[in-house]
Amino acid sequence: MTNYVVGHKIPDSDSIVGAIAFAYLKNAIGEPVIAARLGELSPETQFILDKFGFEAPLYKTSYAGDGVYIVDHSDVELAPDDIDQATLLGIIDHHKLGDLTSSTPLECWIRPVGCTNTVIKMMYDFHQVEIPKNIAGIMLCAIMSDTVIFKSPTCTTADIKCVEALAEIAEIDDPKALGMEMFLVKSAVAGTPIRDLVKRDFKDFNMNGHKIGIGQLEVVDLAVFDDIKAELEADLAKLKAEGNRHSVLLLLTDIMKEGSELLLVSDDAELAKKAWNVESKNGQIWLDGVLSRKKQVVPPLQKIFA
Ligand code: MN
Ligand code: MN
Repeated sequence: MTNYVVGHKIPDSDSIVGAIAFAYLKNAIGEPVIAARLGELSPETQFILDKFGFEAPLYKTSYAGDGVYIVDHSDVELAPDDIDQATLLGIIDHHKLGDLTSSTPLECWIRPVGCTNTVIKMMYDFHQVEIPKNIAGIMLCAIMSDTVIFKSPTCTTADIKCVEALAEIAEIDDPKALGMEMFLVKSAVAGTPIRDLVKRDFKDFNMNGHKIGIGQLEVVDLAVFDDIKAELEADLAKLKAEGNRHSVLLLLTDIMKEGSELLLVSDDAELAKKAWNVESKNGQIWLDGVLSRKKQVVPPLQKIFA
């Protein structure tokens, strides 16, 4: 049996970096594990890997007969399609507990922190394995990304302390400036096909039998969407019909103003009002202070479908 570590579908920087950092740690303690991914790299992740000299993990979507560690999720919907034919060896995550289960005992490291890589740093400390400089660099970037440069309500003191320790190892003087550099890469959306944007950071959730798709684009200025908002909305409607979804949401998150404009297509016209008690103004729904899908968007929706 070959063992792999893989993050969620439509991988973000946390999933990609988590796989690389976890695989290095396991190999360092004598357990061969191969880092893998379920999809293409985002421009942000490509920037991070280029900056610290890493290749993308192995692209691999089928795991039947393999051993698998799952990072950055625990939902069947987000995992490899044939995960039920693999041996689940462990879960390293920072989301709500999902519906993945196992047939044999497994290793679980799940903490309510801002990033999987903060949990992986705890694992390095536990095993007393030194983190190489370039791995510390990509782990730091993953944490700056997931915590939106410490602004997300998911960010904890553990994440901040972790970044301080990683910055020392990686010799990065100003982690926040590096974080800002990453979000500028993320904000360069001009010229990107609409469907690619909608699906850049997109997750499907099964909420009591209802399929709800939620995408998020985090930028430093929402003006980058001014000319394409109508196209984005039209594509959400298409995506809803194609996937038989109850609702499709796209959060346009302004990390400077610290809130999100919500684009929404749903079978329930009252969905936003029920979830956040907001009305649309001039055809726009602004969710003030909402930066985190996992903490501020998924829970209120789940309550509606409970
Ligand atoms: Mn993720
Ligand atoms: Mn994450």
